[in-house]
Amino acid sequence: MNPKYRKTVIAGNWKMNLLSSRLREYAAALKEGLGKEKGCEVVLCVPAIMAVPLLRALRGCRASVGAQDVSAQEAGAFTGEISAAQLRDAGVKYVIVGHSERRAYHGETDELIGRKLRRALQEGVTPIFCVGETLPQREAGAEREIVRGQLKLALAGLESAAMRKVIVAYEPVWAIGTGRPASPTQAQEMCREIRAALRELFDARTARAVSVLYGGSMNPSNAPELLAQPDVDGGLIGGASLDPRKFCEIVEAAKL
Ligand code: PEP
Repeated sequence: MNPKYRKTVIAGNWKMNLLSSRLREYAAALKEGLGKEKGCEVVLCVPAIMAVPLLRALRGCRASVGAQDVSAQEAGAFTGEISAAQLRDAGVKYVIVGHSERRAYHGETDELIGRKLRRALQEGVTPIFCVGETLPQREAGAEREIVRGQLKLALAGLESAAMRKVIVAYEPVWAIGTGRPASPTQAQEMCREIRAALRELFDARTARAVSVLYGGSMNPSNAPELLAQPDVDGGLIGGASLDPRKFCEIVEAAKL
């Protein structure tokens, strides 16, 4: 982390979990666990239908609410989709784009992810842009090339000033939901590589300003070492974010 140049972000990804009956209890535990101190940005990316009730339940809490996907279209006849303007209108401040589960199960391409990211930026919703290699790609020694390719394709033509509003999350696919996180060295190496790629695609100022998170089986035990890496500016947390106490412990680890 380098709080002098970029913000530290701890973002939860509930995926398709939890029911609204749990929101009040979750929000109360989060409020108590986070306290008032603003050490880092705390975000919960929840199923879209829960965003508004969660925002209500979180009144007085410093955590922000995010979504897990957004349409690449502005508005119109796109049944089942949610626009960036609708997210903004509901009070949603962040949105995950390009999560590996959307790439794998919904065939999302880098080009589509780039369009979603731009749509979010146009509405002032901060994209959390996920990149990461699969296990066969890492075993073939191709992880840097894969991640660089994802960055290049999705971010093509974006202005530096717009890029500085994006958060990048390095999520190796083999570490997501497996209980097998990247080692702190692997996480640091790829987050540094991402920063080097941003320097080449944009400029040094942009590379230094963009927060790069690590995601993949982060939990309260491994978070301190992962978050202590100089180029890891926070975490994107799936499973452990379903338990507000564990999530707050990870936020605590980000303050160390
Ligand atoms: C994720 O899905 O973004 C994620 C990091 O999940 P988990 O923490 O459960 O590996």
